[in-house]
Amino acid sequence: VIKVNVPFVDLGTQYRKLETEILTGIKGVCEPSSFILGSEVQTFEKAFAEYCGTRYCIGVSSGCDALLIALLACGIGCGDEVITAANTYIATALAISMAGATPVLVDCDEYYQINVNSIERAITDNTRAVMPVHLYGHPAHMHAVMDIADRYNLNVIEDAAQAHGAMYHSRRCGSMGDAGCFSFYPGKNLGAYGDGGAVVTDNPEIAEFACRYRNYGQTKKYHHAIRGWNCRLDTLQAAVLNCKLQYLDEWNEMRRNHARRYCDQLKGLPVKCPVEQKECRHIYHLFVIQTEQRNALSAYLKDKEISCGIHYPIPVHLQTAYSDSGYGRGDFPVTEQFSERILSLPMFPELADDQIDYICESIRSFFEQ
Ligand SMILES: *Cc1c(COP(=O)(O)O)cnc(C)c1O
Repeated sequence: VIKVNVPFVDLGTQYRKLETEILTGIKGVCEPSSFILGSEVQTFEKAFAEYCGTRYCIGVSSGCDALLIALLACGIGCGDEVITAANTYIATALAISMAGATPVLVDCDEYYQINVNSIERAITDNTRAVMPVHLYGHPAHMHAVMDIADRYNLNVIEDAAQAHGAMYHSRRCGSMGDAGCFSFYPGKNLGAYGDGGAVVTDNPEIAEFACRYRNYGQTKKYHHAIRGWNCRLDTLQAAVLNCKLQYLDEWNEMRRNHARRYCDQLKGLPVKCPVEQKECRHIYHLFVIQTEQRNALSAYLKDKEISCGIHYPIPVHLQTAYSDSGYGRGDFPVTEQFSERILSLPMFPELADDQIDYICESIRSFFEQ
């Protein structure tokens, strides 16, 4: 095999393909100087709501803000508990903390999703919501989550920051709970050219709250109904997203093809490949394998100029930021074990077949050495 450098994510190739379209979109914002809540924001909100199959979409400044706004819209705050997964990006827990509530963590199952059997055990009199994360682009077990939420009268806020276009029993991720929260961080499956996020919902009260909150609580100019904040979706970012949303399904399909090729070629090796569960459409934001020799394999691949990632090396409950949470090592054994075994291989739509072949051959040679 010829040695080829494989980045973990490559945003440049995609930009070069879309350059004319993107720059036209950006010009459309700059020429009329419609920088704040310009028409591109509304255009995007309408298109993304339609894409998700929800009545409303409210563009905000980041995924983290989307989560915070959804929590506040549900009236969650001081003294409340919100149940989420220990094996998520820290933003999920931070949003709960920022709302004034307490993140109550539970372990994950073998598919990396929140362990629905643990949710019920974590419920107390103070529990107000569950925040499932569709981790890596695979849906969480929403039927079970919704069933528990119904029985205990809890809100469900989906962290769909890694799951743009993922499906669960023919529903889009983000469209099943009270609200769904998306991030448009550049590396996400639908990524802006800077920060961005969105809340999607069918609930008109949540939509109205979000729409006001992100713009200082404003109902009309200089009239403020609530104490909101400035966390609007930037119009330039909306212009980029309008262009890129058209390609999301195609890009997700390309990721799915890459995942198939990876799994085929890694067969027989001592690595565990991701599994797409029944009635689920995985959109492979990340392609995460597991091996007991994670660190050695990662170093070996780095030497072959293949960049990998670890999502995530330190679970939320072991972060210094949560050292006062009362959690400690041993509390979430599956999450902790996975954090030492998981490795994210390069995954982006423009990844070439010969790059995947090179990666898989390198992994094979690692285990044969
Ligand atoms: C990216 C991400 C977020 C945060 O999104 P930002 O736009 O970076 O604020 C939240 N949750 C998960 C699971 C993420 O992957």
